[in-house]
Amino acid sequence: MTAEVNLWQLTCAEQIDAPPLDRDLTVDLVVIGGGFTGCSAALHAAQDGARVALVEAQQIGHGGSGRNVGLANAGLWLPPDDIRAHMGQGAGDRLIGLLAGAPDLVFALIDRHAITCEPMRSGTLHCAHSAKGLKDLQNRHAQLAATGAPVRLLAADETARRTGSDRFHGALFDPRAGTIQPLAYARGLARAAMAAGAGVHQNTPAQSVTREGDLWCVVTPGGTIRAKSLLLATNAYHCGASGLPAPQYTTVGYFQLATAPLNDTQRAAILPGGEGCWDTGLIMSSFRIDAAGRLILGAMGDLSHPAAGMHRAWAARKLARLFPDLAGVPLTHVWCGHIAMTSDHLPKVLRLGPGALSVFGYSGRGIGPGTLFGRNAAQALMAGDDRLLPVAPVDTYGEGFTGLRRAYYETGAVLTHALRARAWADGMS
Ligand SMILES: Cc1cc2nc3c(=O)[nH]c(=O)nc-3n(C[C@H](O)[C@H](O)[C@H](O)COP(=O)(O)OP(=O)(O)OC[C@H]3O[C@@H](n4cnc5c(N)ncnc54)[C@H](O)[C@@H]3O)c2cc1C
Repeated sequence: MTAEVNLWQLTCAEQIDAPPLDRDLTVDLVVIGGGFTGCSAALHAAQDGARVALVEAQQIGHGGSGRNVGLANAGLWLPPDDIRAHMGQGAGDRLIGLLAGAPDLVFALIDRHAITCEPMRSGTLHCAHSAKGLKDLQNRHAQLAATGAPVRLLAADETARRTGSDRFHGALFDPRAGTIQPLAYARGLARAAMAAGAGVHQNTPAQSVTREGDLWCVVTPGGTIRAKSLLLATNAYHCGASGLPAPQYTTVGYFQLATAPLNDTQRAAILPGGEGCWDTGLIMSSFRIDAAGRLILGAMGDLSHPAAGMHRAWAARKLARLFPDLAGVPLTHVWCGHIAMTSDHLPKVLRLGPGALSVFGYSGRGIGPGTLFGRNAAQALMAGDDRLLPVAPVDTYGEGFTGLRRAYYETGAVLTHALRARAWADGMS
């Protein structure tokens, strides 16, 4: 059985030198957490002339940012009508409009700061795994087109030509989106933040946070940071930091497996255009190609679960089912991460006190949204103007039954994968 190794750690062209904090500091903004949100916040605040310190408990990209699929989407998982239904027309339209531009923001940052993260602006394909899935895509297409999004609904034959698989009933193509090497993007943002003057400190956990006059005091093992403004950007990987409320969400596992680089014939047949793909299944799965030509297959499921063997067995069969030519191709890397899912699938901005915010709950869509929310949160904190935030901040936020919900998602993933793998083995469709 392949041991867990995160492919992105092995293929990351971006390296940074950000030693632990070893002294006390006073800055304008302290950021806790070094993923897309925290690094984007640090970069944009530093570029605007603020004194910034970012502390990361482990390494930049240790959380979801360094483990994810790398699909830089132009929106959330929810379709536009659902976003408006939850947020109201005006606030919903504003968020939809901002997120439509999020891939432009991501790819512009990659260009401006020469981030070596395998960027591919080839769009994404949301693939219909069933006739019902196709209906869902038709509905999404109508809603997105009404917002002016340049999306296109593809018939089954064009989907087969683009994906290299004849298993789909059609697909929704979004040319605004693309793929990246996510860990390299996170590290590149951190590097750019440091070049703009931000202090970035890895292996520096925020252990406690208190108020001292009108300053926030963040205590770490090597020193205390005092700052007028604070951003908590720890999302699904929050640990410690007493004195602040932990982000509230349900943890959902998502795992990925990578093949060895495909040969030229396989590359010409599978995703020749380089799109990133995910499907309409309730227990969603995804696939894409990296710069070396590996096929990376992912799905909901937690590899630390006692029944994780089901996920791995499903993946091998799924690969062969989607791409019969890849049957038996060894899966050389496997890794897993945790998604912070809120009950309405919308990201949250929580006020922690004067000049302090917590941002979390991207519900599986954090590359564009995390970059955008990080930038705007930093701008809002520096300007003291909440109107710059992508969503209105709340003073309290709670999620109930998160343990039960987590068990519900994981049990659903295990059962779905076990039943599918069994049905495919029995020759059923
Ligand atoms: C497997 C997987 C696949 C995904 N695929 C996609 C995708 O294709 N497209 C997409 O848009 N989104 C995807 N997502 C979602 C996306 O990765 C996340 O939404 C995003 O990474 C969140 O970024 P973040 O910066 O808010 O948090 P994170 O990247 O999780 O960073 C939080 C950081 O805070 C640090 N931290 C925690 N506590 C402390 C402390 N006390 N002191 C200091 N530091 C601390 C952690 O070590 C961590 O590095 C995926 C997520 C997963 C897990």
